Amino acid sequence: MNLELTAAQQVLQKEFRTFVQTELQPYANDYDRQGAIPMELIRKLGAQGYLGATIPVAYGGRGIDQVSYGLLNEEIGRACSSTRSLVTVHSSLTAETILRWGAKAQKDEWLPLLATGTKLAAFGLSEPDAGSDTAGIKTTYREVNGSYQLNGAKKWITFAQTADLYMIAAQGEHGITTFLVERNTPGLTVVPMDGILGTRASMLAELHLQNCIVPAENILGRKGWGLQQIVNTALDNGRYSVACGSLGIARACLEDSIRYAKTRTAFGQPLKDHQLIKQKIANMVTEVKAATLLCRNAGYLRDKKDPDSFIQTSLAKYHASRIANVIASDAVQLHGAMGCHDSISIQRYFRDAKVMEIIEGSTEIQQILIADHSIASLSSIL
Ligand SMILES: Cc1cc2nc3c(=O)[nH]c(=O)nc-3n(C[C@H](O)[C@H](O)[C@H](O)COP(=O)(O)OP(=O)(O)OC[C@H]3O[C@@H](n4cnc5c(N)ncnc54)[C@H](O)[C@@H]3O)c2cc1C
Repeated sequence: MNLELTAAQQVLQKEFRTFVQTELQPYANDYDRQGAIPMELIRKLGAQGYLGATIPVAYGGRGIDQVSYGLLNEEIGRACSSTRSLVTVHSSLTAETILRWGAKAQKDEWLPLLATGTKLAAFGLSEPDAGSDTAGIKTTYREVNGSYQLNGAKKWITFAQTADLYMIAAQGEHGITTFLVERNTPGLTVVPMDGILGTRASMLAELHLQNCIVPAENILGRKGWGLQQIVNTALDNGRYSVACGSLGIARACLEDSIRYAKTRTAFGQPLKDHQLIKQKIANMVTEVKAATLLCRNAGYLRDKKDPDSFIQTSLAKYHASRIANVIASDAVQLHGAMGCHDSISIQRYFRDAKVMEIIEGSTEIQQILIADHSIASLSSIL
């Protein structure tokens, strides 16, 4: 395992960092307050190739490797988890899953549009009564004259407000099946949501499907493949993006805490010279380094298409999202009252970090996956 970045990956890292520092970081608190990111930013992300970063060049993407994609998610996540959420649902959950399981006609139609951000995609799995229990979804499909009629409701769908295409999982006689549903499908209503704790600019919506007729050629993969193949692939892809995004939050908190500890004085000396502050910084650095190694390792295995990449991605997501919470909490503490005020980003990182423990398989779901895998085959994890 080589965890060093190659020269090409270092160049990309610098490019991502420069873009994020100029185009995103200065505005992220405003987006959070407004509860939306502007279309202008989405256009810029598309123009940079960041909405189709891993999609092959032949389909209009940038065709970058998984380690580099992790760096992109880390850098965007360092500044704005809402924007990173767009990358997750659009690229990781949807475009990459179409690339993996889509029919040639689906790939030819959708990937060039998604890779450039000309069209936007969202992922519709969760429902009012089913989240972690993915098999418990109640949205239904039934065959009608060779097409499929969908009925039900999806909830908490990230960037559903802006999406043109939804990947929708539904129950039917062949088991759970996934459909590509276009926004203009009659019977589909998009109902914007607000009031979310973190990633407040991620433009969540509910989707109401009432007798939506979807052509048979919009089935992704095969009937009955909805969970095992499609959703599992999508969540694995999404987990990698969220792992690296969580690392970004943790790094942001660490960097801002060091900066503040150098300038703020208490009891006649800078915070950095107090031993209990040193302890916090030492713990933060150690956890950020460990999360970096887990994310790089997952990216490296994903590039090799190693079957163990699935569980290693789960490890990375589990660890990075948990330490993002611990570090964000310590960062608020270290900043005192300033950490509680929205004139700086720390409070936003603190709120965004909590969301990372819930999405793409909660902390408890990762614990179950990791423990079951370890009990069955410890050597393949360590
Ligand atoms: C900001 C945000 C964005 C989201 N975006 C999307 C999206 O784009 N698309 C989408 O489909 N969904 C999305 N979701 C939904 C998300 O995937 C679900 O919230 C998540 O899967 C958890 O489901 P739940 O909220 O129904 O919690 P539940 O499944 O009801 O779980 C409640 C609690 O019980 C725990 N729990 C559940 N089962 C077990 C078990 N077997 N053992 C131990 N503990 C357990 C959970 O970990 C959790 O702590 C989003 C959610 C949020 C907050």
